[in-house]
Amino acid sequence: MKSSYEIAQAQFDKAAQKLHIPDWIRDSIREPERNLSVDFPVRMDNGEVKLFKGYRVQHNNTRGPYKGGIRFSPKVGLDEVRALASWMTWKTAVVDIPFGGAKGGVICDPSKLSKTELERLTRRFTYELSSIIGPDMDIPAPDVNTNAQVMAWMVDTYSMGNHKVDFAVVTGKPLFLGGSQGREEATGRGVTIVTMEALKELKLEPKKMSAVVQGYGNVGSFASKTLAEEGVKVVGISDATAAIYDAKGLDLNDIDKYLKKNKVLFGYSKAQTIEPKEKLLEQPCDILVPAAIENQITKENAPNIKAKLIVEGANGPTTPEADEILNQKGVLIIPDILANAGGVTVSYYEWVQNLQREQWEYDCIIAKLKKKLVKAYGEVSQMSRVEKVDMRTAAYMIAIRRVADATEARGIFP
Ligand code: NAD
Repeated sequence: MKSSYEIAQAQFDKAAQKLHIPDWIRDSIREPERNLSVDFPVRMDNGEVKLFKGYRVQHNNTRGPYKGGIRFSPKVGLDEVRALASWMTWKTAVVDIPFGGAKGGVICDPSKLSKTELERLTRRFTYELSSIIGPDMDIPAPDVNTNAQVMAWMVDTYSMGNHKVDFAVVTGKPLFLGGSQGREEATGRGVTIVTMEALKELKLEPKKMSAVVQGYGNVGSFASKTLAEEGVKVVGISDATAAIYDAKGLDLNDIDKYLKKNKVLFGYSKAQTIEPKEKLLEQPCDILVPAAIENQITKENAPNIKAKLIVEGANGPTTPEADEILNQKGVLIIPDILANAGGVTVSYYEWVQNLQREQWEYDCIIAKLKKKLVKAYGEVSQMSRVEKVDMRTAAYMIAIRRVADATEARGIFP
């Protein structure tokens, strides 16, 4: 199987070859501008010292400061971070917000760290990054296994080092510490906004639709709840421990109560358990939302997928081979760089509020988010029709064109 970065490069190449852009621009925006790898020690609660490895890849900042999340995971590697960083560049460009793309990660298993160990790890990693991050340089955010608390520690570490409080250095902060209304739900809500646009185009009634959502974390849980708000019946969900399915519709409130108590889906008994959990993707549904991790829809399971619409909540959930199979089957795929762009869009609003020392109201933010994503969806859909390409290639074509035009206008330094 191709690596995530090879997949990202292949997606870029497929779209870039359809655009007439100078070779030097195409080659320079294809590669990350900076790949930082750091090794640093952290003192554990028992007095032992452990070494950790972390990364920050800054892919492109032609259209604005680098922007992208930080994940803590035992599996994270430079290749994955490079792919995720490049996807951020195309994501910020496709929704047209003035940011570039970056991503970061630390190899660790946060479930095996105490809160104080996690804090020390976060603070030391932030220090390692402190010369290359900042409100006008590179603005991290939460991603897999990082959250508002981790962002609060990053703000504090960065601010102490600079002797001034600087909330705009990261987004996804707690509400009482420069965070934005609507940020927590933004990615999942964005998934629902673009799903509604797609259903409109397909002339399908949301109330007659069912959905399966893989991954019930930040993105998946809010996507499920906001889809349900629109009348879509959520029939299947999963997390890293289990997958559950009920053709009559799942009781999301009851599941939330269960999760509050048990932390994981494993053991939930009021719906059918699907084993192995990956088979959830193949269960009957109209809309499939992969919202967990990369490379979940593959050439092995793509032929068995029953959904007519796939909305990529996760980054890179579909391999290129699966993409081709599904395109041939006539499945409409809303690509990650558009489908999950709600998070970075509200992150942008959070950053603007911080810079202006303002706090906007929830309704205002959700209205702005909706307007932004509906416009981006319309542009991608039109490009797809005019150029007779799938939605992913269309989204990349728009994004690459925007970054290429900015690169040409800025020229080469010195
Ligand atoms: P999260 O850690 O909050 O949730 C991830 C969920 O996926 C958890 O429920 C976890 O148990 C589950 N999971 C992990 N492996 C799984 C597997 N093999 N099968 C089924 N479930 C599995 O993370 P998140 O922030 O919701 O991010 C999910 C995806 O969305 C990632 O690809 C991330 O890069 C992407 N994303 C997140 C945001 C954001 O704002 N959080 C924005 C854009 C994209």
